Parts: sequence; C-alpha cells; structure tokens
Amino acid sequence: MKIIKTIKQLRAFLSQQERQGKRVGFVPTMGYFHQGHLSLMKKSIKENEVTVVSLFVNPIQFGPKEDLKKYPRDLKRDVKMISPLGVDVLFVPDEQEMYPQQLLTNIVVKYLSNTLCGSLRPGHFEGVATVVMKLLNIVKPRVIYMGQKDAQQAFIIKKMIQDLNVPTTLSICKTCREKDGLAMSSRNVFLSAVERKEAVVISKALKMAKAVILKGETDAKRIIFLIKKLIADETSANILYVSCVKLDDLKEVSRIDGDVLLAVAVKFSSARLIDNEIVKRPRR
Ligand code: AMP
Repeated sequence: MKIIKTIKQLRAFLSQQERQGKRVGFVPTMGYFHQGHLSLMKKSIKENEVTVVSLFVNPIQFGPKEDLKKYPRDLKRDVKMISPLGVDVLFVPDEQEMYPQQLLTNIVVKYLSNTLCGSLRPGHFEGVATVVMKLLNIVKPRVIYMGQKDAQQAFIIKKMIQDLNVPTTLSICKTCREKDGLAMSSRNVFLSAVERKEAVVISKALKMAKAVILKGETDAKRIIFLIKKLIADETSANILYVSCVKLDDLKEVSRIDGDVLLAVAVKFSSARLIDNEIVKRPRR
C-alpha cells in the first residue's frame, strides 16, 4: 500500500493506472478505522482494479464548538489495520495540501442539507460536499463508496453527483454494527463503559420502531414518541433529534406511507452518535 501525501503524486500514480485502463474505486474517510470503514474498502477492492482510500479530518465540516481538535487520530494504527486488505493507495493530505488558500467556492446541496443533522450543525454538509467534490476531482473514481450509517451525507453526495454530472457512481454500503447492535463509529471510543452499554439502546429503539411500522402503525408522531421514550428511559444521553422522513427527499412525514428513514442523533457526555434504519413499506 502506497501512502501518498500530495495531490501531485496521487495524480501521477492515477494517470499511470488510467493509461492501463484500470477501474478506480474510492473510499473517503476521516480515519480511526473500524470494521465499517474496512467493509467499504473490501467492497471497493472486490469491484475495482485500484482502490484509493483518503484519510483527512476535514476542518471545514466541523463547527467552531465541535470536536475537530479532539477527533481521534492514529495514523500508525490505521495503516497497520488496513495494510493486509489490498488497498492500493492511502491518501493522507494535510490541511495545507487540501486548502492552500482561502476557499471562495462552496458546494451547497439545498434543502437536504438543512434537515436532521444539518439543522443542528450549520455548514456541516457544505463542508462535506465541498471536500468530497474536491476529492472526486482529484481521484476521478468510477465508484465512490459511502456508508448508510451517515445516510443524510450519502443522499447529499448522491444528489450532488446527479446535479453536477459527476462521472462517478455512488455505492451506499450497509451499516456495520458491534455484536450488540451499536453502529460502529470512530466516536465510540469517547463513550465511558456505562455509556457504551447504554448506547445499544439506540439501535434497539430503531429496530423496535421498524417492527411497529411493519405491523401497520402509520402515525409518525407515535413512532418518534416510542423511540424517544426507550432512549430516555434506558440511557443518560441527551436526545438531539428523532425523525421520521421520506426516503426520497428527507422531508418529515406525519403519516407513514411508502419508504421512510428513521434517524436518531444523541449526545453522550463526549460522544455525539447517530444511527438510522430504512423502513420499506409499499404506498397504499
Ligand atoms: P468517517 O471516517 O466517519 O467520515 O466515515 C467514512 C465513511 O465510512 C463514510 O462513508 C461513513 O458513512 C462510513 N461509515 C462510518 N461508519 C460506518 C459503519 N458503521 N458501517 C458502514 N460504514 C460506515
């Protein structure tokens, strides 16, 4: 696995690959890898001749009061973890490489960026869309792999690719979970032992709500109430939001008719966690 720090070197490597007609798969990450990241990389390795993984803790997607400084970083650990997989390039640019000058261009994916996490993290998805667009222009992959775990992020990138005719296909990969159901996340390391035990309730509540919907419940308010109650009863977490939105435009629904996304964000003492569940239900 090559570790490349500059855009120039990465482009030189990729143009060689392009001349040989090799297909490139791309996995953007912020590092501190877990099996969720690895599942994306494995899929790319399986489906492409060349896999590029980027590791960049993107400052422009963090708000001034968020955990940019504290975000877990350990390059040695990460390199060791993915070395056996067959990733061709780990691209590790620094901030100067990605943002050498003040950015005057920003990708804004309207509406989709303002709901769910976007309503609590102003500017977050602009930061995400902008860095992903930059990375897509640098790597020019055939396929980009992203996780269902960050469903809103994946939908926003899907729309950006569609709107701007980016010649890349998005592959959304299913959420990898710990044995007890907790969605894997780099931020799980911030949980205390007690919080770690409590955190399982997030996925439990989503699964319970999904089952209730599949049994016929159509009242979104009732579903949201049930999820909130279980989380409030069994954890010390602060509930940031629980939402039931339409899968195609992420708009809140009051009556569940058709496919929906149930999305949850909670804050434990020093970890902000998100999870979601898609519920597919034929329209009546
Ligand atoms: P991050 O490093 O957290 O920015 O995540 C990099 C990519 O990995 C994103 O596309 C995430 O959606 C994806 N990802 C994060 N956690 C998981 C998970 N538990 N299962 C599958 N993919 C994940």
